[in-house]
Amino acid sequence: MTRSRAALLALAAVWAVAAWLLWRTSVPAALHLPHLDEHSLFPPDVLHRAQHYSAVQRLFWLGTTITQLVVLGLFARYGVRWTRESAAGPIGTGMLLGMIGFALVWAAELPFSVLEVWWRHRYGLSGSYVQATVGNWFALGAQFVVLCVALAIVMGLARVRWIGDRWWMPAAPVFVGLRILLAFVSPWLLGGSSFHAPYVARLQRIERVHVPVRVLNGFAEPNAFATGLGPSRRVFLWKPIVDPPFTPRMDRFVVGHELGHLAHDHIWKSIGWYALFAFPLAFVLAVATRRRGGMGVPEAIPLAIFVYVVLLLVELPLQNVVTRRLEAEADWSALRATHDPVAGRQLFRLFASETLEDPSPPGWDYVFLQNHPTLMQRIEMTEAYAATASMRPRRPRSTATAGPAAARPVGRVG
Ligand SMILES: [Zn+2]
Repeated sequence: MTRSRAALLALAAVWAVAAWLLWRTSVPAALHLPHLDEHSLFPPDVLHRAQHYSAVQRLFWLGTTITQLVVLGLFARYGVRWTRESAAGPIGTGMLLGMIGFALVWAAELPFSVLEVWWRHRYGLSGSYVQATVGNWFALGAQFVVLCVALAIVMGLARVRWIGDRWWMPAAPVFVGLRILLAFVSPWLLGGSSFHAPYVARLQRIERVHVPVRVLNGFAEPNAFATGLGPSRRVFLWKPIVDPPFTPRMDRFVVGHELGHLAHDHIWKSIGWYALFAFPLAFVLAVATRRRGGMGVPEAIPLAIFVYVVLLLVELPLQNVVTRRLEAEADWSALRATHDPVAGRQLFRLFASETLEDPSPPGWDYVFLQNHPTLMQRIEMTEAYAATASMRPRRPRSTATAGPAAARPVGRVG
C-alpha cells in the first residue's frame, strides 16, 4: 500500500468515527413513531391551504435553483473573458469575478423573489417587495463581504508555491475557525429584550442550561432559535411566537426545545458536521478547478463558483438528514422537560395554519427542503412520548415537585 493511500484510509476512518460520535442522540433508538392520519389532525380547509401554499412555494425554490445553476453554468463557460480585461491583480480580479457571479445570480433570481412576495400576500403572510429586491442591503452586503474574504483566503493559499493545489488542507480549518468565531459573536449582535415567564427558570434547571432567553422584534413569523457558544449562548424567540394565538403552554414547549439544543451541544455539533463536510468539499473544489489552472488564478473562479453551488446542492440532503436528527432530539428534550405532549401537539398543529407549512410534504421536498422533521413526524413523536410516559409508574398527583420524567437521564442511544 502506498503512503498516500494509507493516509487517505486513515483520514476516512477518522471521518467515520467523528460522524458516528456526532450522529448519536438521546432519542431512544427503539422509539416507535405511530403512523397518524393528517386528516384526523387538521381541519380540511387548514390542510388544503397549507398544501396549496407550499406546493407553489417549492416550485419557486425549484425555479430559483435551476436558474441559479444555468446562470452560473454560463458564467463558468464564458466568464473567463472578463479576466483579460481586468488590471486588479490576480486576487483582485478573482474577487471581481466573484462579485460579477454574485450579481448575475441576484438578478436572475429577482423574478422569483418578487413572485414569492406576491404569493405570500395572497395568503395573508407578510412580505415586502422592496425587501425582496434591493431592500435588504445589510444581508446582501454581508454575503458580498463573506464571498470576497473566502476568495481572498483560498486564492491567497493556492498562490503560495509550496501549498498550491493542496490549499484545501489549510483552508478548511480556517473556515471552521471563522464559523466558530461567528457562532460565538453573533448572539451579542442580535440584541433583543429579555423574556420573563414563570416556567423559564424551571426549564433551565431541568435541562441544566442557564442561559438568557430573549425576544426579537421586527419579525412577522412565529419562530425561535438557540445559538452561541459558552458564555454567548442564548435562546431567541421571534415576537409573534409569544403572542396569541400561541399560548404560554406552547411557548414553554418552544423554550424547552431551544434549551434542548443547547443542552445537547447542538451548536458545537453543527460546527463538527460543518468541518466534516468542509474538508471533502474543499478537496473536490481543488480537483475540479485544476484544469483551469487551480484556485490561484482568476480564470478558475467562475468555474469554482459553479462547482461550489453544485456541491452545496448535493450536500443539502445530507445536511437536512443531520439537522432533522438534531431537531428531533430538541423536540424530545422539550417533551422530557415539559412533560406536556399535548402542548407540543397543539403547537405543531398551529404551525400549519400560522406558517402554512405542509404537514407531510412530498418525498423530494422532504429530501431537499425539510431541515426539521415534518409537522406530522413531530406530532407523532408527541404521541410516542405520551405512550412511553403512560407506561411509567404513575406518581401521586400531589408530588408535582418530584419533577417530570425529563429530569431522569436517559442513556445515550442510537
Ligand atoms: Zn430547533
